[in-house]
Amino acid sequence: MGMLDGKVGIITGAASGIGAATARVLAREGAKLVLTDIDDKAGGALAEELGATYLHHDVSEEEGWPAVIAAAERLGRLDIMVANAGIGIMGNVVDMSLKDWRRQMAINVDGVFLSVKYCIPAMRRAGHGGAIVMLSSVAGLRGSAGLAGYSATKGAVRLFAKSMALECAQAGDGIRVNSVHPGIIATPIWDKLPGGANNRIDPHAIGQATVPLGKAGEASEIADGILFLVSDLSSHVTGSELVIDGGMTAGRITRL
Ligand code: NAD
Repeated sequence: MGMLDGKVGIITGAASGIGAATARVLAREGAKLVLTDIDDKAGGALAEELGATYLHHDVSEEEGWPAVIAAAERLGRLDIMVANAGIGIMGNVVDMSLKDWRRQMAINVDGVFLSVKYCIPAMRRAGHGGAIVMLSSVAGLRGSAGLAGYSATKGAVRLFAKSMALECAQAGDGIRVNSVHPGIIATPIWDKLPGGANNRIDPHAIGQATVPLGKAGEASEIADGILFLVSDLSSHVTGSELVIDGGMTAGRITRL
């Protein structure tokens, strides 16, 4: 018996990193999945491996959302939404173009807004509640020089999750909404930052230097937290923030 037998879920940004690891864990636990991404090669291959449905979809484009929801409803009732797709654009704010600021907002914030706007009616139609998880970050809990725009998007996601938890509680629809806050996690997102491709930004080195547990986290460690939040084990958890950061936000270790 899997923890998610009979449940149907959507994972955005599922072709890589945390999204792909989450797809593996949720499929292992019996969920039927719709995976979406803009990287069709990796997304399609993962869907084939897991027996899932893959759809090309840019989360920030509203026109594509009804087809994503319809694909999930063809698998049964919609129970789970993992709003995971996100990007990070590095650089000081004075050097950042408005175009880049808006692109980051469009994917990280508008994309999460649309995920929720379109999945809640489907969950309400099914009438069995549901679980929505939004990927924020430790950058949504505190500021970050050089990633100020990213922090702004992840802070927005954090309070959007809490507000939606209350909106659903008020509606009495049984839908729980929570945010997840990873610290330094070794995924391809780091390769996409300026300087990442030639390994000048190495999450393992940063993890060793800055994470109290002494290492970067793995995508599967975030996926395990997401599994808790979408399973019945967390039936009384809503409006909550699950920080999975190896102790980064707990404080400082003073070595004498
Ligand atoms: P990743 O780059 O490995 O994966 C992100 C996926 O999102 C990719 O497959 C990419 O193609 C997809 N994507 C990008 N733009 C998209 C769009 N417009 N529409 C649909 N899909 C799109 O990154 P990751 O590390 O797995 O990050 C997943 C989430 O976790 C992101 O929201 C990220 O901000 C968050 N996060 C990551 C870390 C970390 O250290 N890796 C830390 C905190 C938070």
